[in-house]
Amino acid sequence: MFLFNINVVTILIILILGHLLTSVLIIAYTSQQNRSKAVNMFLLSKLLQAAGWVMLIMRDNTPNLVSIIVSNSILFTGAALELIALMILKNTYTEAVRRSYTALVICCIIVFVAAAAYGFPENVRITFTSSITAILIVFPVYKLFTDKKASRLQKVIAAFYSLTMFFSIFRAIASLTTDLDMNLASTSIFNTWSFLLLYIVMLAGSTGFILLEKEKQDLELLKAASFDGLTNILNRKTFILRAKELISLCMRKQEKISFLLIDIDDFKKINDKYGHFVGDAVLQDFANTLKNQLRNYDLFGRYGGEEFAILLPGADEKNVEEVVERLRSKVENSSVDADLKIKYTISIGFFSILPDEGTDIDMLYKLCDQALYLAKFHGKNCCRSVAEV
Ligand code: GH3
Ligand code: MG
Ligand code: MG
Repeated sequence: MFLFNINVVTILIILILGHLLTSVLIIAYTSQQNRSKAVNMFLLSKLLQAAGWVMLIMRDNTPNLVSIIVSNSILFTGAALELIALMILKNTYTEAVRRSYTALVICCIIVFVAAAAYGFPENVRITFTSSITAILIVFPVYKLFTDKKASRLQKVIAAFYSLTMFFSIFRAIASLTTDLDMNLASTSIFNTWSFLLLYIVMLAGSTGFILLEKEKQDLELLKAASFDGLTNILNRKTFILRAKELISLCMRKQEKISFLLIDIDDFKKINDKYGHFVGDAVLQDFANTLKNQLRNYDLFGRYGGEEFAILLPGADEKNVEEVVERLRSKVENSSVDADLKIKYTISIGFFSILPDEGTDIDMLYKLCDQALYLAKFHGKNCCRSVAEV
């Protein structure tokens, strides 16, 4: 079959072009923005791998120990940097990981140089290079797989790298125990498929990295568009969107829902007395205090200024009365700024309802606004139900 006659050097030339083309596309794609550390690392890895393979192909003409050592060391470094770029992108490249992985890469290169200098025959050298490749992949792949926030894309990419790892282990063993010809010039079926696999993983790794970078940027944009920058809770637009979904869900499940409108008392005075920055710190403290009191499926959002809303699915009149009093008292007992110990309070208007087709978030807001007004009227730092209006 024609596929079995592909020359390995031809595959390597396409592999080199693939690395270079990826670099050109990434440089073009990121030319309008600040290139991240992960992208820079990935670019460097592509260039090193292209250079390493060029040297290996050229080696046929000048076969000597120095070129074997240099080209393989460049390839190991390039492969390691590609995996490091992935770990940086996924925020799993901590200082401890950096130190241990760098030590591992250096050790691997030293072992290879020593083995090559010792003058082992080619098949033993191939066992060394393949084992080192597998060793370098194990840890990053483990990190990518065990990342709690791993997306499906991330797992597919990790699977491609695992494939290379398993194949490298197989190649390391086969090189020692069989008489398969693994020289670059060999056109054996095994050799051809080995390098084709390398090419496929280069494609998957490059495309995967670009997509992962895009996935990360999209998530950051989505977060910026959905969350309030100061308090890190939902902004008004997203709160309303999610509230509509939650109300429909509770309607289908025939479950009660409770809406809370919260306003910080005399907030203007806090701003006037301590300044806008302290005012901001109060808003952040308030958001954190309340976040800790809510369940994962409760909705909490900033409606604007120092006005906030909460939607509690499944909470009836009795539950909500207990919740609002707990929230009010938590805030009353908290303070901002270790030195100044600024105290502040909140007022809450709340309402519990079994939602139907006519229940909408604007209606709940208007009703709770009246209850909130009542709470302010009754001296602030208190909670009032819509039933009391
Ligand atoms: P009340 O008890 O009746 O609610 O009085 P209040 O002073 O809290 O109410 P008012 O609505 O008069 O004041 C709200 C203030 O909140 C006015 C505005 O300058 C301030 N504010 C709105 N957004 C921010 C913000 O992001 N940071 C800070 N520091 N202040 C803000
Ligand atoms: Mg206020
Ligand atoms: Mg207000």
